[in-house]
Amino acid sequence: MDRFEFYSPNPNPNPNFQPSHTASQNMGETRENDGYEEELVDYDDEEANAPASVATKVNGETVKKGYVGIHSSGFRDFLLKPELLRAIVDSGFEHPSEVQHECIPQAILGMDVICQAKSGMGKTAVFVLSTLQQIEPVAGQVSAIVLCHTRELAYQICHEFERFSTYLPDLKVAVFYGGVNIKVHKDLLKNECPHIVVGTPGRILALARERDLSLKNVRHFILDECDKMLESLDMRRDVQEIFKMTPHDKQVMMFSATLSKEIRPVCKRFMQEPMEIYVDDEAKLTLHGLVQHYIKLSESEKNRKLNDLLDALDFNQVVIFVKSVNRAAELNKLLKECNFPSICIHSGMSQEERLTRYKGFKEGQSRILVATDLVGRGIDIERVNIVINYDMPDSADTYLHRVGRAGRFGTKGLAITFVSSASDSEVLNNVQMRFEVDIKELPEQIDTSTYMPS
Ligand code: ADP
Repeated sequence: MDRFEFYSPNPNPNPNFQPSHTASQNMGETRENDGYEEELVDYDDEEANAPASVATKVNGETVKKGYVGIHSSGFRDFLLKPELLRAIVDSGFEHPSEVQHECIPQAILGMDVICQAKSGMGKTAVFVLSTLQQIEPVAGQVSAIVLCHTRELAYQICHEFERFSTYLPDLKVAVFYGGVNIKVHKDLLKNECPHIVVGTPGRILALARERDLSLKNVRHFILDECDKMLESLDMRRDVQEIFKMTPHDKQVMMFSATLSKEIRPVCKRFMQEPMEIYVDDEAKLTLHGLVQHYIKLSESEKNRKLNDLLDALDFNQVVIFVKSVNRAAELNKLLKECNFPSICIHSGMSQEERLTRYKGFKEGQSRILVATDLVGRGIDIERVNIVINYDMPDSADTYLHRVGRAGRFGTKGLAITFVSSASDSEVLNNVQMRFEVDIKELPEQIDTSTYMPS
């Protein structure tokens, strides 16, 4: 089959905190994640060390490799460029994780790869390192393109490329997403053409259509959070159009923690005989270091409960997920009024503001982030050890991604989910049916050592 036959349309203790109903009453119900829509308006969207079962599939044949933990082999065994090995040492990476061990040797040979591995296990370094290993920068030519679904994630990925290319001084990386004056991007492409482009589909497509961005020399095409990008038909259409502008002969790599049986064939339409690497069986996708609980309560009890939890729990940083832009703004306001060190991020704010807040939180300037699903996937903030689902996510997949913001790379963490309706219970049941996890009701007391990194 031709590679391209796709698209069938088909913590401040706060004695003054009053249980207030205002927030929930005033919160509108515009669900941010209903879409992509809202994000799309401007065309751009918007125990680590625990054993894991590895199934590698080559040309349709599955090879089970049993159970393996973090590998004793080192990054040196991958025979990477010395410049990359130096940057890896600087980053403090000692051993490759399972997914890195399984994917990097194949990926650096230029093979197409589809890869599923749990959140926070280092998928980014797989494509960053293997692209940097292979790329031979030619002035004025874009050789690699990485697409992802949000601007914050694009920014983060670009940063990873910069970090690992510290000792490759000729290599240029740039990030392009909406909400930034397009002229800035056009000028950059004209005057300082990057070799690697990271971005969100809307802006990349706009630049490519207007011929500011030439894709004819692309040798590596990468989709991060590929299921998210291909499930939404709007985004899929953009991705396909971009893909069609790249040469036939290139490496394609796709990554996600959640690759359903339905989405896998869609991914494969972009590839020729890909290596399919499913580091973790779907059932084993939950993080071992993450303690997970739920609390049954009514909508009007949520604020009081949240207050109690923020007072009682020990945390470095916490992310509180809500279901809409309005609810994020309202809850954040309420928390700030009660002197909690809180900020919020959602797609209703300017891009500049969004990024400033994201960076500030990542640097530890605030300890509480109230957010929509905008930061529910991909975002890596090391100090986050608690996730609270103030509003239940819309699906088991979304739950898995959200709670994966805590307990990254094998660290400990805690996830607490508020259950306030029959449909909330249904999502929670779904999570427990699909994944091997026993989510218990929150006990009166919870031992800090079970979720605080030592
Ligand atoms: P994923 O994409 O699988 O969700 P990330 O690529 O965001 O995970 O990686 C999660 C965190 O783990 C990041 O902070 C990253 O720097 C760190 N990390 C990745 N690989 C290693 C490694 N081999 N050793 C130590 N830390 C690592």
